[in-house]
Order: sequence, then C-alpha cells, then structure tokens
Amino acid sequence: MKIRSIDTFPVAVPLKKPFKTALRTVHTADAIYVKATSENGSVGWGEAVPTHVITGESFGSLTYVIQEVLAPRLIGMDIRYREALFERLTRSIIGNTSAKAAIDMAIYDLWGQLAGMPLYQLLGGYRQEVETDYTVSVDNPQTMAEDAERYIAEGFHSLKVKVGIGEIRDDLERIRAIRERVGNKPKIRLDANQGWQPKEAVLAIRKMEDAGFDIELVEQPVHADDLEGLKFVTDQTGTPIMADESMFSANDALRICQLRAADLLNIKLMKSGGIREALNINAIAEAHGIQCMVGSMIETKLGVTAAAHFAASQPNITSYDFDAPLMLASDPVSGGILYSKSKIRLPGGPGLGVHQIKDIG
Ligand code: MG
Repeated sequence: MKIRSIDTFPVAVPLKKPFKTALRTVHTADAIYVKATSENGSVGWGEAVPTHVITGESFGSLTYVIQEVLAPRLIGMDIRYREALFERLTRSIIGNTSAKAAIDMAIYDLWGQLAGMPLYQLLGGYRQEVETDYTVSVDNPQTMAEDAERYIAEGFHSLKVKVGIGEIRDDLERIRAIRERVGNKPKIRLDANQGWQPKEAVLAIRKMEDAGFDIELVEQPVHADDLEGLKFVTDQTGTPIMADESMFSANDALRICQLRAADLLNIKLMKSGGIREALNINAIAEAHGIQCMVGSMIETKLGVTAAAHFAASQPNITSYDFDAPLMLASDPVSGGILYSKSKIRLPGGPGLGVHQIKDIG
C-alpha cells in the first residue's frame, strides 16, 4: 500500500491562558498537521509543532522540511515496508525532529488502519488508559495555590509546577503555598526547564527535601548540554531527577543511562522524531532499569493522541504528561484520545483513531 500524497495544513489554537516556563511564554498553540493519503484512499494524520527554544524548529522550517525535503522522498513508498520508510525519513535530513515526528505518526496511523487495530495494541497493548498530571502556571504563590486546589478538586492527582524562574526563594515560596493548600496526598513534580546552574539546583532541591515538600521528581534542572552537571545534581540529591531537553535520541538516552546522569527520562515525539525512535529510547532505558515518562510540547490532541498510543503500549513507561490539549480554548480534532478528568482513554478504532479534523477533512 503505497503513499500517494503528503499534504500539510497550518493550525493555530489559542490557549485558555498564557503558558510560561523558564524558556518562554506561549499564547497560541501553532501546529502543522500532516495528512498522508495511501493509494487505497486511507488517510494517516500527524502533527508537528514549532518549539524554537527546544528543537530549533520554526513554522517556516517545518513547512519547508515536510513539503520540500521529506514528502517527495517518501511518496510512492509502501507502508508494508515500514522500516524502509523510516530509514529514508531519518536519512533525508539531520535534526528537524518535529517535522520527522509528524510524518512518523502518519505512517503509524496508516499502518494501524491497514492492520485494522488500534496503534497502542499493535505496538504492545500494555494499557488501555493512562493518567495525566496538570501544569500549574507560574504566578504569585497565592494564585498558584488557588489554581492547584482547583485542579485537585477537578479530579487531578498529580500537579506539575514550573520552577527555575527568578530566585530560588520564590520557587520555594510557590511550592510551599501549593503544598499547604493541597495537602500531602497529591503528587507534585517540578520542571526547571534548564533554569538552574548545577550547584543552584542541588541547593534548591535539598531545601525542598529539608522542608518536606515531598517532590516526586525534578525535570531538567540544568542546561541541556551539561550532562556532567545533570549527573552532579542526580548524585547530590535524593529526589529523582529526570532528563528532558538533554535527551532527544536513542544515542542521548544511551549516554545518560550509561553515565547514570539521570534517574528517569522524559520522551517526547517532537524530540525523538516520532514513535520509531521513541521505542528505541524506551528499550535502552528499560535495559538500564530506568523508567520513562512520555510528555508533549504545546501540542493539540492529534500529536498527544500519537504519544498516548506509544505510551500505553509499553510497561516501562510509567508516567504521563499529556495536559497540553486541556490548555487549549478549542479542539480541532474529533476522535483520538478521550479525556475524563485526569484519565485518558485510548480510542478503539484502527490506527490513531482520529476521525476528522475540523476545517481540513
Ligand atoms: Mg520538561
């Protein structure tokens, strides 16, 4: 079953409220949807998002790479020879992982439809449901505590808090305010998005440990390139440390696992270049006894549906950060994953289980 065409569609969805991290502030979810049509008329969908400060990709580069570089090389290839497709996809251009991820998703969607099975079952079928955390936006401690309380009341059991913005004492004050408000039961995970120097990170995390904040894990305390610094933080603190921006590929994962530079890995399809490489990353982590989280960038439900299929298929993937679609003011996708409070149910239809995309078809 050959790929007949690959088309791209720009998508822009406003966020309910601005999303602020140590790296950036986002107001709109900008995405490019990829539609791959096979010769029998089946349609596979994928999504790429421009996250300049993490993958280096822009709206313009995504459009160019998908339309001018990847599509012409893949059209005419056969879905039944998936590894040949992925080999060409990988070798067509260095980097550009989000552009590759969108095509990878569409290929997996078509493969699942060809097999007549939901993708998460084809990939392994470990779970039918996953549970997401919810991100508390950075604000003054009072507002963050109120937001956190509301999310717990809405049925979330795990909160993600962005840190590494401004002074350490401000981070501590925010977490204290949240912990006091929500009590001991909800999990609190932190994401510094590279915002600390290694010694600062150790100082901040030790203070949190001493204060009894009971932090589940801390994502990416130091700069993405600083694996020695990441290892220093991992060695010097009791709180589990997770690599995010430091880990794009299976090679990155192998180095981090061998060095024991982190206790956990955060896999995102926009960094790995899609599900194919994400499976390799997870296999390496599993072999080293390191568990993985699967997360997303500011993506719509299409990209997160693909990530959730991958995440639900593997026993070594034990936590999920899929709240991005819940932050959007509208949803262009019908079908795909189904949210019920913090629970996410995988769709029963073949492939990604996406029915229709509003205004696209
Ligand atoms: Mg992160």
